[in-house]
Amino acid sequence: MADISTKTLSLDEIRNLAKTVLVSAGMDGVGSDILADLVMQSERDGPRSHGLAMLPRYVQSFQSGYANGAAKPKIERLAAGVLRGDGDNGFFQIASELARPQLIEMARDAGIAGFTCANTHHLAALRFETEALARQGLIAICVVNSLALIVPHGGKTPVFGTNPMSFACPREGAEPIVWDQASSVVALMDIKLAAAEGHDLPYPGGLDRAGNVTTDASEINETLSLLPFAEHKGTGIALMVEILAAALAGGCLSVETEEKQAFGALNIKPGVTLIAIDPAKWGNPSFLAQVSQIVGQIDAEPGARVPGDGRLKMRAKAQSEGVAVNLALLEELERSD
Ligand code: NDP
Repeated sequence: MADISTKTLSLDEIRNLAKTVLVSAGMDGVGSDILADLVMQSERDGPRSHGLAMLPRYVQSFQSGYANGAAKPKIERLAAGVLRGDGDNGFFQIASELARPQLIEMARDAGIAGFTCANTHHLAALRFETEALARQGLIAICVVNSLALIVPHGGKTPVFGTNPMSFACPREGAEPIVWDQASSVVALMDIKLAAAEGHDLPYPGGLDRAGNVTTDASEINETLSLLPFAEHKGTGIALMVEILAAALAGGCLSVETEEKQAFGALNIKPGVTLIAIDPAKWGNPSFLAQVSQIVGQIDAEPGARVPGDGRLKMRAKAQSEGVAVNLALLEELERSD
């Protein structure tokens, strides 16, 4: 395994570094504030593969002209519970920040509302989108499709992106439940990190050059053919995400890579769908008590944790001790600012 030297940075230092790199790459004030927060939050809570390590991808997307660093998204209300966004070829988080107050108001009014967005980019973790809604007392579900990397169970050619999904829910007297996960056994950025650090995956995550299932991160990083989690079951979930994200929003399908290839970017311009549900409108006054009961049953199980609660420990540690950042990455980022 490669020797990894690190330097510990505070969360403020990480946020400032991200902001400086993004502004130097040509991003405007609003967008660079939103993405710098996202990078800091990913270093703080995980997944760190979507923190500072993602910055060179953001920079590449602006400097190649693939993404718009000064996006002015447009949001339109199409029906009582439907908001639709045009991301102006910028990052989704800028559009969603604009849409969020209206989405919350619509969900509180009707009990449920959705926001879809196309003409946009998404390279980040989904958890921060859903957490923001759960903090307002809403249940949230978010899906996005991405560059075709997952082979359908039994096949050899990628059809789906790593198509992640996130779920968040308020919890009485505690931080919200928030989890997010890819439809692949392993997320692409984790394969890239393992390949760069020179170690295998803990379990088979993709196909080797001969089309066989392997744990070799370097070979999977070459074939870019990943396995869906839980075989046919993960294939079903990846299909659902592809339809709810790409097809509903009118984004690029995961296989539509032409424009991405022309610009050498990491991802396609996907569709994103975010659904907000107000549990107070669904007629069960015991909703929060029942959530507590479910969570309590998991917490009582030795060795088990509520999905997503690992982030809370990571957050507390990062807030008090800072974060150890790969020195080579840090030097690369400092050269680019
Ligand atoms: P992981 O497999 O690392 O984690 C998935 C979820 O499970 C997390 O919420 C994690 O939260 C939770 N978890 C992990 N271990 C346990 C455990 N032992 N018990 C209970 N819960 C557990 O995530 P992935 O590798 O699948 O995805 C990585 C990230 O990449 C995600 O944030 C996803 O949104 C992002 N992504 C983004 C894409 C894009 O195109 N924008 C594409 C694909 C992925 P915790 O550890 O905090 O408990």
